[in-house]
Amino acid sequence: MRSGQCLCGACTYEIDGEPVVVAHCHCLDCQRGSGAGHSTGAMFAEADVRLSGVVSTYAMPSAAGNTVTRRFCGTCGSPLLASNTGMAGFVTVSLGTMQAPDRLEPQVVVFARSRRSWDRMDDRLPAYDAQPDWKPGDGV
Ligand SMILES: [Zn+2]
Ligand SMILES: [Zn+2]
Repeated sequence: MRSGQCLCGACTYEIDGEPVVVAHCHCLDCQRGSGAGHSTGAMFAEADVRLSGVVSTYAMPSAAGNTVTRRFCGTCGSPLLASNTGMAGFVTVSLGTMQAPDRLEPQVVVFARSRRSWDRMDDRLPAYDAQPDWKPGDGV
């Protein structure tokens, strides 16, 4: 089982199972939402993730017209989970909030077209300009 928490500890989560993909995302929403050059997240089946604490929610449309809902600690603001109606049944957990996150390896870079010149990635990873046409279960 994996677990994690926000910066202040008011929000915690537990996860069963393995991620379907671990990705770096450079989209502008992730840049603003993380305050950094990209977000790094691991996607899990929603049913495998239990989040507790005083969680705030912010929903907005994605460029592709889906609704993206971000869940974050209402006290310290740490981004915890994001879900996308285009990928129903799955949630992406911010890797930096996870206990022992180095047991997971990022596998792919998405929205590389929005990458900042100062935010260099491992160039051995496959990189996509935007979100590839990919569904959980396709493999990486
Ligand atoms: Zn917090
Ligand atoms: Zn993104």
